[in-house]
Amino acid sequence: MKMNIKKGDTVLVITGKDKGKSGKVLETNPKDGKVLVEGINIVTKHKKPRSQQDKGGIIKKPAMIESSNVQVICAACGKATRVAHKQVDGKNVRICKKCGASLDKEFAKTVKKDAKKAEKTAKKEEKTAQKPEINENEVKTEAKKAAPKTAAKPAAKTTAKSAATTKKSKSSDESK
Ligand SMILES: [Zn+2]
Repeated sequence: MKMNIKKGDTVLVITGKDKGKSGKVLETNPKDGKVLVEGINIVTKHKKPRSQQDKGGIIKKPAMIESSNVQVICAACGKATRVAHKQVDGKNVRICKKCGASLDKEFAKTVKKDAKKAEKTAKKEEKTAQKPEINENEVKTEAKKAAPKTAAKPAAKTTAKSAATTKKSKSSDESK
């Protein structure tokens, strides 16, 4: 069984009695698809005394849990994440699905650079794609708003006013 969890990973338990707890992976068992996590799935064992030094007693220790019950916590973004895979220098590298950083420390730097580049190009593409749309909308709304105010209304007002003033001036002339 292929596992995305490796020894030394910090993982978050996402289901079961230890849900919400996190710990360091002490051992993995790819054959069974199980992992041993520090402080998780603690079981008590009653050990029989075997010698004068080994007096036995109750021992608490972690037991293996299903690897599907845990998620790797990304060191870069601090979130529990599903794992993506990427080929870097011919090797399969585990990638955080949330931030794009590598979950394998030895590749963290190279992958981070790639992720930043990808982010930048993605942002550029977004900007170039959105710009013409936004501008067109702005122009349309501006034109709609501007058309009645600047063209029709003031023209009508001024003609009415001028007509009134001409009438007034005429009547005042007549009265004199
Ligand atoms: Zn991350």
